[in-house]
Order: sequence, then C-alpha cells, then structure tokens
Amino acid sequence: MSETTSETTSETTPGGGRRVSRRTLLVGGSAAGLGAAAVAVYAARDELSRMWWRLPGIDKPRKAGVVDQPGAEWIAASGANWRWADRPDDYVIDRVVIHVVQGSYDDAVRVFRDPGHRAAAHYVVRRDGHIAQMVRELDVAFHAGNRPYNERSIGIEHEGFVSEPRSFTDAMYRASARLTASICERYGIPRDREHIVGHVEVPGTDHTDPGRHWDWDRYIRLVRAVRVPRTST
Ligand SMILES: [Zn+2]
Repeated sequence: MSETTSETTSETTPGGGRRVSRRTLLVGGSAAGLGAAAVAVYAARDELSRMWWRLPGIDKPRKAGVVDQPGAEWIAASGANWRWADRPDDYVIDRVVIHVVQGSYDDAVRVFRDPGHRAAAHYVVRRDGHIAQMVRELDVAFHAGNRPYNERSIGIEHEGFVSEPRSFTDAMYRASARLTASICERYGIPRDREHIVGHVEVPGTDHTDPGRHWDWDRYIRLVRAVRVPRTST
C-alpha cells in the first residue's frame, strides 16, 4: 500500500453505473480500528469487493475458458483479430454494436478464429439463441472498422443475411437482447438507440448491417424488458 487515504471519489454515470477512483483501492489497512473512519473504510472495501473489475490499474485475471456472459460458450478468436486491453479502465465502454455476419454461425466462428481475417466480434449469436463468446469484454475486438469505436464498444455478431428477414428468429432476438441488457448493466450503458447501434451507424463504415429487416423497435423493447441481477462478485 503506498497511500492510506480514505478519500473516495465516485461518480454516477448517465446509466446509473458508478466509477470508483484509484484512491479507493489504496485505502490502507492501518486505518482499521479508528471508529467511524474504519466503518467508512470497510464500507468502501465492501463496495470494492463488488466493483474490483471497474478499478483502474488492475491487470484483471484471465483464465482460459472464462466468459463474461453467463451461459455463453467460450470459443477463442485468433489473437490477430483483437487487441489486449484493460477495459473499462483504459477505455470507457459506452456502445454496443449490432452486426449481421452475411453467413452462418459456423462461418462467423471460423473466420474469427482465422488470423488472416483481421476481424472478430466479442460474441456470435446463433438462430436458436446459442451464444459464443470469442473475445473477452475487457479486450478490444476488431469489429467496427473504426478504432475509437472498437475501443469503446462491445460487438455482437448475428447469424444470417441482411437481405433475409427470416434470418432473425425470435430466439435470436431474445438471446441477443439478454446479452445486450447484461452488457449495459455491467458498464452502466443506457439501453437506448444512441448507445445500442448498428454497424451501419459507425462513422466511416461502408457496411450496411444489420440492415432494414432488423427490427430495432422490437429489439430495444426486448433489451429494456430484461431484468438483470446485479453483479455480486
Ligand atoms: Zn458488421
């Protein structure tokens, strides 16, 4: 411990999420036993135990096979298709980018594992609602074709074709909406169309996905309807 201050600075983000400053982390054990001050310290520690992954300067643990989204299947993308990072500390995550892959789920998984593809999304959603996570959320996946957007976003790829409305099944919408709602909860992102965008809306892109058949009204309604339990880790 290099500091023993109990100063805690935190702010509420527009989505209700809270960010805790480095000073909170550095609260020293020597403050214990000081009555009210100690209570404050313990309260801060209790908050820390739940918020550790939002703290700056911590190289977060990475264990093979760990997913950010409960229930997702881990399938590692090639390391050439994403960049090591420490989000949300080095980059604020405030966007979810929706993609349609112009192919099958298997196609998406295959190309994201291919080092020559030079692109991958964090997640791939199948027609039946199955979800693969291929890049950790703390890392920067190359999916938006725009560096600042890659750094600020989580990318969700969907099986199917922009020209085929039948690509987008009820199971897919619902699974994707649960995923997006969970991401929004994790990072305090508002569940609206300003923050949940299509690839087509990324500045400078020549991509059109998810296309005109993607039902945004339905999707946002589903995302807002999801009740996400607070993370307690
Ligand atoms: Zn796309």
